[in-house]
Amino acid sequence: MIRDDYMSYINKKKYGKFSKSEHVTDQEVLEEAIMSSDDESGNDFPKFNEDTDMDNPNIIVGLVFPTGDVYRKAVRMYSIKKGFELKFKKNDPGKISAYCSRKCGWKIYASYFRGTKAIQVKSIYETPHRCSWSYKNRSANANWLSNQFLHELHDDPNWGLKGFMKAVKRKFSIYITKPQAYRAKEMALQTIQGQHKDQYLRLRDYCATIMSRNPGSVAYLVADRVAINRNPIFKRMFVMFSAQKIGLEA
Ligand SMILES: [Zn+2]
Repeated sequence: MIRDDYMSYINKKKYGKFSKSEHVTDQEVLEEAIMSSDDESGNDFPKFNEDTDMDNPNIIVGLVFPTGDVYRKAVRMYSIKKGFELKFKKNDPGKISAYCSRKCGWKIYASYFRGTKAIQVKSIYETPHRCSWSYKNRSANANWLSNQFLHELHDDPNWGLKGFMKAVKRKFSIYITKPQAYRAKEMALQTIQGQHKDQYLRLRDYCATIMSRNPGSVAYLVADRVAINRNPIFKRMFVMFSAQKIGLEA
């Protein structure tokens, strides 16, 4: 089992069973783990799950990400949670390096996983990261903030900027400026509006489905159209299933 070998190497490294002069790197640990395994499928490497792990990613050597985009997103989130700013080197898609913007030596390297489009963390240097907490973080940009607070802004679209800024500080220990808060809020509100628009567009399909699946049913939308070049505005929807009609007529 790759994972067992790998973990035993990590433990040996962690608890100092290798002498310091050996300078065992994570890269060597990983290579050794791969070499010493009978199982070539690689199924035992830990896999990152975007749905469950993104809120608090635990980035370790050997971890496999489904795509480069997911990996970048996760490493950014990791750096925000650990209180430091990350910089990516300009790499090709199969080799991704990033480092602490204060150049303390913390560095992470990932590359394609066995010829697939998946990305595996190959080495992390100077971990755990030791810089003092950075209250500013470019990874926490308007787009990122808007996604983090989408639910709150959906429930309260009139949330004041000061309250929003305080919430960011409380949740992530990051200071943002008023214009940053404004941009993030605007982006979130646009996303929310877009989601609602999509829902209305689907209503038309829903009416068509009701009529085709339940012959004799009536379903239609009433919308206001102020101008030919503007989208219609929803007013009401009428649905009567054929069974209801029969019930009424009986
Ligand atoms: Zn650092």
